[in-house]
Amino acid sequence: IKREDVRNVAIIAHVDHGKTTLVDELLKQSGVFRENQEVKERVMDSNDLERERGITILSKNTAVYYKNTKINIIDTPGHADFGGEVERVLKMVDGVILLVDAFEGAMPQTKFVLKKALELDLHVIVCINKIDRPEARPNEVIDEVLELLMDLEASDEQLDCPFLYASAKAGHAVLDLNDAPKNMVPLFETILNYIPAPEGDPDEPTQVLISTIDYNEYVGRIGVGKVEQGTIHVNQDVIIVNEHNPDKKARVKISNLYEFDGLNKVEVKEAQIGSIVAISGIADLHIGDTICDPEHPSPIPFQKISEPTISMNFMVNDSPLAGLEGKYVTSRHLRDRLMRELNTDVSLRVEETDTTECFKVSGRGELHLSVLIENMRREGYEFAVSKAEVLYHEDERGKRLEPMEIAYIDVPEEFSGSVIQKLSERKGELHGMSLLSDGSSRLEFSIPARGLIGFRNEFLTITKGNGVLNTIFDGYGPYKGDLQYRKQGSLIAFEAGEAVTYGLFSAQDRGTLFIGPGEKVYCGMVIGQNGKAEDIELNVCKTKHLTNTRSSSADEALKLTPPKILSLEQALEFIDNDELLEVTPTSLRIRKRILD
Ligand code: GDP
Repeated sequence: IKREDVRNVAIIAHVDHGKTTLVDELLKQSGVFRENQEVKERVMDSNDLERERGITILSKNTAVYYKNTKINIIDTPGHADFGGEVERVLKMVDGVILLVDAFEGAMPQTKFVLKKALELDLHVIVCINKIDRPEARPNEVIDEVLELLMDLEASDEQLDCPFLYASAKAGHAVLDLNDAPKNMVPLFETILNYIPAPEGDPDEPTQVLISTIDYNEYVGRIGVGKVEQGTIHVNQDVIIVNEHNPDKKARVKISNLYEFDGLNKVEVKEAQIGSIVAISGIADLHIGDTICDPEHPSPIPFQKISEPTISMNFMVNDSPLAGLEGKYVTSRHLRDRLMRELNTDVSLRVEETDTTECFKVSGRGELHLSVLIENMRREGYEFAVSKAEVLYHEDERGKRLEPMEIAYIDVPEEFSGSVIQKLSERKGELHGMSLLSDGSSRLEFSIPARGLIGFRNEFLTITKGNGVLNTIFDGYGPYKGDLQYRKQGSLIAFEAGEAVTYGLFSAQDRGTLFIGPGEKVYCGMVIGQNGKAEDIELNVCKTKHLTNTRSSSADEALKLTPPKILSLEQALEFIDNDELLEVTPTSLRIRKRILD
């Protein structure tokens, strides 16, 4: 049968192009919210961190109804991959809505996800949003999108996709710019007509592939996935198998089965092929598991979750845990929090170390771990971390192998020279270079993962924030030898008030790091007399010697340039291991020789 009552779509959009607004509006118009009831919580609202970094980290589900059809809408991670997430999400759907700002056009970050969608033969609906903006240029943006689809080798059918013009904010979409805008019906209709309905025989043996894991304090692990074959129902005896784990053969009974409805999960008695379901009550349910009829235990092929490539130590210290009056972050707090993370993040690994206060946390790249660290710090956990290190492997002959990444970089042409130079010092090899229609360069590098540690910040500096950097794990390769880059600038120290503050002067970013005892790490600017950072002598060490700057003390320098908070990880990047004496969540202690 064809499930005409279901459609499964994913939205691909650059951050701020209006995904949340659009889904809110679809929800409102689908009647999920009763009249006069405000949409209180934004549906797919990304957390602060996602917004700041321009990425979507986790996928979330919503279901809206149009006519008698349930449309499951799945948010896609906007960033290159934390271990196969993009592919797993896209495998649940039959089509995608590519949402593009009518002024900004398609942004490079979405290309990776779009490429995956095209490779999986998904149908594409292009929705040009924000056509109400005065500077909107919908027709040009459509040409750009078509060009992008061709670049990414879309099939003829994919190129022949429907285009809609929307103002998510005003709540309408049209198929033709001359049409009078009314509501979202044209988009609903396009989804129904253009995205294929899931198809299959509900009487075949059950197969449900678990694609993501949710976690809820009350019910524990919740597996989310699509019914790939047959029907699943409450009280059914099933067997759980996994393509990559032949020993897994867990026999359980399905006790709690849900479907999505609006923003909620609602309990259902059964679900047929094509439905997206959530299942709780099974402790040993993991991503990649297939829930099967016990008579037909056949696992569905599933992309293996990529291995961690990088690790950091997370360490306990004596700082109070915010929100828990009088309590301290103990190793148990830290352990519990990390273990909780493992419930939903499959590409993360947490190991105990010889010291009870220290855990080795491994993940898929520096960004992956720094997102976790920042989220934990925002929740009030204070803890120290070590520098990131890559995880090496060995080949059969005992030779060292290291994780490699492909870095895709789009930068205005004027910066491409310095990017190439910086990355080659970090053992990056330029594999491709092309000129984009807007005059920017696209560079493709193969680079050891360790070469990228700390590069993100440097990249922002050298491109003055105008570049886009995406990286994708590219397997393990032979060790490439020592990196050749030298850190810019050198350490200085001076007295601010009572305390001696150490900092780093970087000629490149014309800034000084103020690392204050008991303080966050600040980055302020100390600018030379005629406004040039180069005017400052790098070996200045005490406040009183900072006389050739506009400010005569660190405090004043901070006043002149409001401090920007850097994370300790970012600050650590500037410091050599042999200079480092101690790291606490709020300060760094650095060897005094820099005062000489
Ligand atoms: P997301 O990051 O993709 O989820 O984007 P949001 O839905 O949060 O929207 C980002 C910003 O764009 C918000 O300030 C919205 O109000 C605004 N926005 C969204 N849709 C439209 C639109 O159709 N027209 C205009 N002018 N602004 C919009």
